[in-house]
Amino acid sequence: MTVVLDRPDWISATATIRKPRWSVEAPVAPRHGVVHPHAPGLEIVGAHSLVPLAGGGQIEYANLDHGASAPALRVVRDTVDALLERYASVHRGAGWHSKVCTSLYEGARGPVREFVGGRTDDAVIFTKHTTDSFNLLAHCLPARTTVVVFETEHHAALLPWEDRNGINVIRLPAPATPAAAVSAVDEALRTRPAGPALLVITGASNVTGEIWPVTALAAIARARGARVALDAAQLAPHRPFSIEDLGVEYVAVSGHKLYAPYGAGALIGRADWLAQARPYLVGGGATATVTEDVTTWKPLPDRHEAGSPNVPGAVALATACHALAGADRAGLAASEQALTDRLRNGLLDVPGVTVHTLFGGQVETIGVVTFTIAGQSSAVVAAALSAEHGIAVRDGAFCAQPLVRRLLGAAGCDVADGTGHAIRASVGLATTGEHVDRLVDAVESIASRGPRRRYVTVDGRPVPAVEDRELPIIAPWQ
Ligand code: PLP
Repeated sequence: MTVVLDRPDWISATATIRKPRWSVEAPVAPRHGVVHPHAPGLEIVGAHSLVPLAGGGQIEYANLDHGASAPALRVVRDTVDALLERYASVHRGAGWHSKVCTSLYEGARGPVREFVGGRTDDAVIFTKHTTDSFNLLAHCLPARTTVVVFETEHHAALLPWEDRNGINVIRLPAPATPAAAVSAVDEALRTRPAGPALLVITGASNVTGEIWPVTALAAIARARGARVALDAAQLAPHRPFSIEDLGVEYVAVSGHKLYAPYGAGALIGRADWLAQARPYLVGGGATATVTEDVTTWKPLPDRHEAGSPNVPGAVALATACHALAGADRAGLAASEQALTDRLRNGLLDVPGVTVHTLFGGQVETIGVVTFTIAGQSSAVVAAALSAEHGIAVRDGAFCAQPLVRRLLGAAGCDVADGTGHAIRASVGLATTGEHVDRLVDAVESIASRGPRRRYVTVDGRPVPAVEDRELPIIAPWQ
C-alpha cells in the first residue's frame, strides 16, 4: 500500500523540520498483537511467543521482566522497517534518502521532548541509554558542582559523578520515609560547599517500584539553588509526567525500556551547561571548523552527538513516545496497578516469601516487585521459573547493590545465595493476569517443595542439570 503524507502525524509541531512531503510505503500491520483495552494501538511484537520447557513442551512466554528491557511496540518496528527502506546518511548527504533520514532524525526530537513535557528550549540529545545520558550530564557539569544522590539509586544514576575533577559528591543513605528523603536533601544542600549543585533522583525505583516524591524534592532543590536530574528510566514507561510540572531540569530515558529496543536513549533538559561543555565525544559531526591550530564546536544538539548517529534508534524512541503519549495513560496505569496489586498480594500470601520495600507501602508504585524466598537461591528460583514455567524474571542486585543489600539486610533475609540477591518481577504492556497467577503459583510451589528439577552452575549461572531446550536459529550466521 502506498500513502502520501503531507506530514507524518507523529512529527510534532515543535519539530525543527519544515513540512516534508514524501511518500512512504506503509507496512501492513499484522493483526495478531495484544490489543490492550487502554491502548489499542500499542500492540507488542512477539506477545504470544511460545517458549520451550525443560523436559519437553511449550508454553506462552510470561514476560515479567519489563523493568530490564521491554519488547518492541509493533508501531515502532513498522516505522523502523519503513525507515530502513530509505536508510541513508544524515545531515550532510545530498541524496533524497539522506534528506528523508535527516528529516526523520531531527524530527524525532519533538515527540521525545513532548513525551517528557519538556520546555520548548530544552535540548534533546540522543544517547545510547540512561547510563549514557547521565555520563553525558556528568561530563557537562561546571567545576565545583556538588552532586547529591541517594545510595538507593541505580548504578547508572549513582556512579557517573564519582572521581571527576572538581565535582563533589554527597551520597545520602537510604531514607526511611519520603519525608525523610526531603529533609536529608534539604540538609545536604544547605550545608554544601559554595558553587552549583545537582540533585540526582529516580522517578520510580527499579528495585521496589516505589515512586519517589520528585515534586517535593525538586521544590527543596530549587529553594536551595540546586538543579535536579530525574532518572526516568523506570517511570517513563509507566506514568506520564512533565519536566515543567515536576520542576526538574534534566530527564534521562532509555528506548529499550520504552518499547523501542533499537539502541537509543535521550537526555532532555536545560541547555546552558550542555551548550558550554566540550563535546562529550570528540569527532565528526560535533565540529564546526577544524584548522591546523583551532577546532571549534557546533552548538547543541550536534555538539554532543559526534559520529554517525543512531537514526533507527532515535526514530524508534520518538515513535514509542508518540504512541504512548497518544494512549489512555491513566487507564494503562490503572490496569497495571491492578496487575501489580495481584502480584504483590499473591506473593505476600506465600509462606516464606518476603516482598521488599523501602517506604513500607507508604507510596504508590509502578509494576515492579522484588522478593526473596527463605532458604532458596534467587538465581536458582529464577532459572526454575524459566525452565519449568516459562516465566521471565530477573535475579541479582539489579545494578542497585547498595539498596538491595540494605533491603535484604534489614529484612534479615536468609537466602541461599547470600544477601545481595533477590528476584524481581516487573509488569508491562503485554502482561496478563494469567502471567501473574502463573508466577504466584510457581513461587508457592518452589517455596514449599523447591524446584522440580535439579540445577547445576555453568559459567556462574544455574541451569537445569539436563538441559534439553534448544535455542532457536535466528541469524543466518548461527
Ligand atoms: N535507572 C534505572 C532506574 C534503571 O532501571 C536502569 C536500568 O535498569 C537504568 C537507570 C539504566 O538504564 P540503561 O541500562 O538503559 O542505561
